[in-house]
Amino acid sequence: MNPTPPIPIPFPSLLDNSQVPSWLSALLTEKFYNACIIHEYMKKNEKNVFCLDCREGICPHCLINHPSHRLLKIRRYVYHDVIRLRDADKLMDCAQVQSYTTNSAKVVFLNQRPQSRPPKVSGRLCLTCDRNLHESSLFCSISCKVNSF
Ligand SMILES: [Zn+2]
Ligand SMILES: [Zn+2]
Ligand SMILES: [Zn+2]
Repeated sequence: MNPTPPIPIPFPSLLDNSQVPSWLSALLTEKFYNACIIHEYMKKNEKNVFCLDCREGICPHCLINHPSHRLLKIRRYVYHDVIRLRDADKLMDCAQVQSYTTNSAKVVFLNQRPQSRPPKVSGRLCLTCDRNLHESSLFCSISCKVNSF
């Protein structure tokens, strides 16, 4: 049984996420690297995996409850949640989202980051949050790209 596709909204709105797949909005609102509520009193209970089938962040102890689910590893880079570009590319079109290289892997940020300095006037800025970008990118993070629709 296929769910009926949502009717496209004629103009974009940040409040109406009906064009964004539900797993993607769940991924972008989940708080990773917090303690798992189910495994609150266990060690290594940080939620660092996202289950695409259950649309929730899970900890290593939860994995046993998600056999053969599609899982996405969440990593940390400069204190923010990132995913490997290689993983992200399988799930969505990451063109124009700025990537960074860490531990010889390319990563992309899930969400925009608070800015410590006002952006430089010159150069390219994220179309959604005005963060300075390198090269030919248009967005600093996946959420900025999603929110630009
Ligand atoms: Zn699952
Ligand atoms: Zn858990
Ligand atoms: Zn941005």
